[in-house]
Amino acid sequence: MPAYDFKAPRLFVEADLAPGTVLPLDRAQANYLLNVLRRGEEDPVLVFNGRDGEWRATLVAKGRKDGELRCRERIRPQAEPADLHYLFAPLKSARLDYLAQKAVEMGAGTLRPVLTRYTQGDRINLDRLRANTVEAAEQCGILAIPRCLPPLRLPEAMAALEPGRLLVFCDEDAPIADPVRALSEAADPARPPPLAILVGPEGGFSEEEREAIRARPNTVALSLGPRILRADTAAVAVLALVQSVLGDCR
Ligand code: SAM
Repeated sequence: MPAYDFKAPRLFVEADLAPGTVLPLDRAQANYLLNVLRRGEEDPVLVFNGRDGEWRATLVAKGRKDGELRCRERIRPQAEPADLHYLFAPLKSARLDYLAQKAVEMGAGTLRPVLTRYTQGDRINLDRLRANTVEAAEQCGILAIPRCLPPLRLPEAMAALEPGRLLVFCDEDAPIADPVRALSEAADPARPPPLAILVGPEGGFSEEEREAIRARPNTVALSLGPRILRADTAAVAVLALVQSVLGDCR
């Protein structure tokens, strides 16, 4: 990763960004910058909106509850979102928050909730999911906010993937025990295809679901080792493996 200013706070904003743009702080942003981080007049803050790259702004405080940012200069051009789809069965809220944040930190560019036979609860709060992706993007330095797609049932979610996208199916019963070997045999690491990852719910996939997933062409069943991982742990493990063998950790 290029040299990066980890000391300056980093905020996502909705407004367009240009030299001299004034960005009024909302209450939460003002509290975060002025009280939690105790930043003051003229302190630098990095801002991005997912469209205009990253900008250095400076803080103008109006007491400890109000203030604004003044955009100074663009320091990074806008980057394309990562082309890595993460398909997951919804979990209970705290673990889902964790899963979404870690998936974004590990490089997922699209999050797709998938409803399966044993998914617990089929309602998902997309605003909360998006808030978690924004928080993770602020913290990990990416410039494009990952897409949060609406939930689909498993067959529709698989049908929505382009045929050329390699589906990495996290499967405790994968025939090859070595995940690095399974990934290297499924695709040429020198020319990796677009990728999608699928992780199941707490109750796992049903046998019929497993068969349907395995029957999809361009799908690799991946073991994550000899222990059964929680779905949120599996998220971090599979993304580390996939990014190391076929993705952007090389
Ligand atoms: N099958 C178990 C059950 O009946 O509770 C556990 C499911 S596990 C908690 C949730 C998901 O994480 C699984 O559907 C799978 O996608 C993934 N997973 C967990 N451990 C795994 C492993 N060792 N290898 C591959 N995938 C794993």
